[in-house]
Amino acid sequence: MSKSPDDIRSISIESLNHILLKNKFPLYRSKQIKNWTTKIDIKSFDEMLNLPRDLINFLKKNFKLNHAEILSVQKSSDKTVKYAIKLHDGLVIESVLITSNDRITACVSSQVGCSLDCNFCATSQLKRMRNLEAYEIFDQIMILNKESINYFSSSISNIVFMGMGEPLLNYKNVIESIDYITSDYGIGISYKKITVSTSGISKMIKKMADDNVKFNLAVSLHSAIEHTRNKIMPFSKSFPIKDLVESLEYWYEKTKRRITFEYLIWNNINDDFNHINALVSICKRIPSKINLIEYNSIGNSNFESADEIWINNYLNILKDNKIPVSVRRSRGKDIQAACGQLANKH
Ligand code: SAH
Repeated sequence: MSKSPDDIRSISIESLNHILLKNKFPLYRSKQIKNWTTKIDIKSFDEMLNLPRDLINFLKKNFKLNHAEILSVQKSSDKTVKYAIKLHDGLVIESVLITSNDRITACVSSQVGCSLDCNFCATSQLKRMRNLEAYEIFDQIMILNKESINYFSSSISNIVFMGMGEPLLNYKNVIESIDYITSDYGIGISYKKITVSTSGISKMIKKMADDNVKFNLAVSLHSAIEHTRNKIMPFSKSFPIKDLVESLEYWYEKTKRRITFEYLIWNNINDDFNHINALVSICKRIPSKINLIEYNSIGNSNFESADEIWINNYLNILKDNKIPVSVRRSRGKDIQAACGQLANKH
């Protein structure tokens, strides 16, 4: 059986050069082709106007040009916009645009579904269907940027990998997409404005540090006490807190960049002083800041937001210990676009 043709964008520029040479097309065409493939409005090789017909026919015969498209748009009363984006094979991911003061943040997905099992997160109820290709993550960001310009008259200023999926379990493609989006082909955004969020895959955190990546790192911690974390995020039994902390110390040593801990506070789960103290002691080891996130109910009765008094207790004790902390109120709740609510109702 013949292999189905690859998407032109999954071919590196070196391989494309090689293929062009072998088939007697001039090398400078590869740059022209790559240029066209970074334009999300170009949906067929026929539209690549500066290429000769014989090259267009060659490309059509040997490659595909997949594209993603917006399936639906939901706008929240707080101006958050959620997009369902359909991939070439019919699978759907969700992405969100969030505005605040002078920022427009694109919250993007790295996988279709998620293989982790955080009990409080709606995405975890979907199976992981597949990883996104680098060009699909790139497309997603380009689509969001175009929407941002149309809708808010401004390009996106920040990107957070906090949509569906675990970015560090699709590491190679996430890195490639970030390199591409920050390159001349992308949207003129710098690494400093990009944050990758992980549930805490320690060995990949070390790898990122070794690879000397330039973007920011966030870790969804939610508890610094092992047995609690194992209960709410069962996969974390394979990634003990000791290893996680070690990997983050390693990250800081190599990158000198402070990480962000994302932290939810629930009734009868982590609303006590033991949990606060455990968090403080981790923060004392790792230069970090804490983002206390408002919990968005996903209909699991085991999880209920803690009383406001506990949010204040966390805030005060962290501040007393000189640990930077902020509270992130939910955005886009009315359209299920808030953290942990992305679940593809399609
Ligand atoms: N897998 C990565 C990327 C997803 S980010 C990670 O976990 O970091 C999604 C963020 O939303 C994570 O910080 C996650 O812990 C948080 N989250 C999940 N469910 C939530 C919910 N119901 N309410 C608020 N935040 C939630």
